[in-house]
Amino acid sequence: MAEGGVKLLDGKVAIVTGAAQGIGLAIAESLLSHGASVMIADVDEAQAQSAALGLDAAGRVAAMRCDVTKAADHEALVSGCITQFGRLDILVNNAGITKDSYIAKMSEDAFDAVIGVSLKGAWLATRAVAPMFREQKSGAIINVSSLSGKIGNPGQTNYSAAKAGLLGLTKAAAKELGPSDVRVNAVMPGLIKTAMTLSMKPEVYQSKEREVPMQRAGTPEEVANVVVFLASPLASYVTGAVIEVTGGRGM
Ligand code: NAD
Repeated sequence: MAEGGVKLLDGKVAIVTGAAQGIGLAIAESLLSHGASVMIADVDEAQAQSAALGLDAAGRVAAMRCDVTKAADHEALVSGCITQFGRLDILVNNAGITKDSYIAKMSEDAFDAVIGVSLKGAWLATRAVAPMFREQKSGAIINVSSLSGKIGNPGQTNYSAAKAGLLGLTKAAAKELGPSDVRVNAVMPGLIKTAMTLSMKPEVYQSKEREVPMQRAGTPEEVANVVVFLASPLASYVTGAVIEVTGGRGM
């Protein structure tokens, strides 16, 4: 995608939440490689800072602590990003957590925590950037959902509900912000090799892998490529869309 001297996202500035590791870090890396500047936002500040150092993109990467469940953190993040890079064009709502257990055993805290990070966090971030994106009449928001939000996963009523909720948020925000040329889309990863999935029992991981028509888990980079596409002018007429990155699982 990044050919010749001019890169796809030259001059663009992105915030990626939950970017200290895993899919978020791969998204940050891909956005950088396509010319964007990136603010790595994560609740784990030390890991976010070391991720930014590791990316070694002189002057085009920075890190800030942001707990996506806190409205004030989003306000600080947006103004920190403007101070650092002068503008903001792309928001990637990637932060997400799991707290799995069967419904009869799931605590209210486990339900609220997962909805708080994976759904309300994205809504708070969208609310924080919407006025600016509207005023500048441009912007791209990409929500990282999950196949669980489409097909549901036993033991994940909280996570599946949050990830399905993100699809509603994506479409409602796409309709609201479309008239201002602000695009809102979602990616729907299936089984992707990260700390989140490697914490599964090996037999569960292997059985999920066998359900994938392509017979393997995806990589964080394969999700990141689709996010770059949605963030870029190549997707200039794409909004309210959900792109599955699942190796065909869940068709
Ligand atoms: P991960 O656990 O490796 O990374 C998640 C990151 O989010 C961590 O850096 C963590 O510190 C951060 N985070 C957690 N709570 C936060 C908060 N309150 N505020 C800010 N940051 C917070 O997870 P991953 O596998 O890279 O997943 C990234 C996203 O992709 C998540 O939304 C996840 O639901 C989604 N997803 C993952 C898979 C998969 O197979 N790994 C599949 C579908 C969807």
